[in-house]
Amino acid sequence: MPRLRIPEFTEFERADLSGLPRQELEDLAWRFRELARTLANRLGEDSTTSSRPPSSDDPYRRDQRGGPGPVGQGRDGGAGQDAATPGREAQDKTDTDKAPAKPPGKRLGMPGHWRREPIVVSREIEHVPVVCEACQAALGAERRSRQVSAHHVFDLERGAMGLQVIATRHRYFAASCVCGHATAASPGVGLHSRIEGRKRDLQLSERCLVGPTLAIFIAALALRFRLSRLKVQEFLLGWLGLELGVATINRCIHEFGRASEPVAEDLIAEVRAAEVVHLDETPWYQSGVLLWLWVAVTVNTVVYRIGSRRKEDLVALVGHAFLGWWVTDGYMAYRDHPRRQRCLAHLIRKAMALAEGYYGPGSAFGRDLVRDLRRLIERVRDGDNDAAVKRLLARIKWNCQCNEHEIEQKVRALAREILNDWEAVIAFVAEPLLSPTNNDAERALRHAVIARRISFGTRTDEGSRFYAASLSVIDTCRKRGVDPWIYGRDLIAAARKGSSLPSIPAKAAA
Ligand SMILES: [Zn+2]
Repeated sequence: MPRLRIPEFTEFERADLSGLPRQELEDLAWRFRELARTLANRLGEDSTTSSRPPSSDDPYRRDQRGGPGPVGQGRDGGAGQDAATPGREAQDKTDTDKAPAKPPGKRLGMPGHWRREPIVVSREIEHVPVVCEACQAALGAERRSRQVSAHHVFDLERGAMGLQVIATRHRYFAASCVCGHATAASPGVGLHSRIEGRKRDLQLSERCLVGPTLAIFIAALALRFRLSRLKVQEFLLGWLGLELGVATINRCIHEFGRASEPVAEDLIAEVRAAEVVHLDETPWYQSGVLLWLWVAVTVNTVVYRIGSRRKEDLVALVGHAFLGWWVTDGYMAYRDHPRRQRCLAHLIRKAMALAEGYYGPGSAFGRDLVRDLRRLIERVRDGDNDAAVKRLLARIKWNCQCNEHEIEQKVRALAREILNDWEAVIAFVAEPLLSPTNNDAERALRHAVIARRISFGTRTDEGSRFYAASLSVIDTCRKRGVDPWIYGRDLIAAARKGSSLPSIPAKAAA
């Protein structure tokens, strides 16, 4: 049986069918059935039934496929309920049916693991208290008495031509004062992260096997270069001869995340004061539950946040009383902000789909829209021809008005979308600060999207907060032309010591 070519659709009129003989009609109906079946099969394919990667699966349908379960609502559906959906119950049920997953880490009773190579110490640093705790009198090396503690620190030295691992022994001494009080020096203790019921909480301290430069190096491998904890371990052993446990590696990444949190809070305050903010969001998974990763990008700041897709999570990022401009896609949560630019790249892509699809007259509408929107962007950028811009605006609007009652649903929907959001579509024409596309925010999310595909997201609330804060710090540094790793090293050192955290320097004048 000859297969039906898709272009044959467009050659058909209803009237043609009535003239066909019975046999040909039956034949045609059967070929349509075959085509419909092929398309329906293709539509139903996912990672479990084809060679597509799991990341291509619909995030809202993962639970039905037995993948990491998810909860949520449709892309343009009301952003309202979150956890209280049937999907959640279904997931809980499958969780209890299966044997409980093994928790990460070593099993109880397994033999321990010790360092095989002795540490070769290349430097010693002695810490003697400077002032007496009791009377504030000055102390010094000459009043030093016994040693109270010592520990080793591995660190990296960044020389002009490369990296070197060095081991330092830190020795802490007590000193006795003329008043009779003995003061002991001790490693600094800084930020912490406590979670109810956890066996060991995260406490940043100078008493740590991994020095600040090595810690930020590990965080860079994991966060910027997207290596898993195990790959980082393999890398350190293979290239630096450094043997560290996965837990230690994880700890370094979390230390950077914890230290980044207060800095990210300050960055959020800066975003709220900005004139123009680019916003976007992408799916994110936290132990299999569907969440969203939001990003807000301004000229010199990038801030991420992992949360639900509801308005409150957007407000937590940008604030209630944001006065500037938003550049966004068409997602509903953005809609009621009065000063807004719609991303034209999205609209151009939708128009492109019409132009290349089988929509009859709708295809021409799509083609015109693609051409006119692109021209509009060029004309406004060059800023030399006001009359041409006015003509283009009038033509786009007229074109949409002609198609807002079109029979094809997709054609009608795009025309109405543009008309309903007209002020936001053309805001950039009158406002030179605005860019007509949301590329800044979308580019910022690309990195995280790839990371999500590799790692399947984060596991805990704490991990999500740390991840978002770390990325905010790294990307803001990069945006401002500041070396994120030198800054990160200083940040970790300050957070361990408990001293005040450095803030990211403003952009250097170009
Ligand atoms: Zn004293």
